[in-house]
Amino acid sequence: MRARDLDGQRLTTELRDRLHGHACARCGGRGKLRPAGYAYVRMRGGRHGYPVGVCGGCPTWGAQ
Ligand SMILES: [Zn+2]
Repeated sequence: MRARDLDGQRLTTELRDRLHGHACARCGGRGKLRPAGYAYVRMRGGRHGYPVGVCGGCPTWGAQ
């Protein structure tokens, strides 16, 4: 995913894996992940932040 803000109505299983730290938030790779800050999902009730990880080849979003 490129943006940190995702539409809660359009989440795929694959995106959920990324949000839950099962895959790299940026490329979806399943190698060793490191902390990458938070991704946010917009829902009817507001915005929910998930601590996500990225693989060694992808940049993090930094501390937020
Ligand atoms: Zn990656």
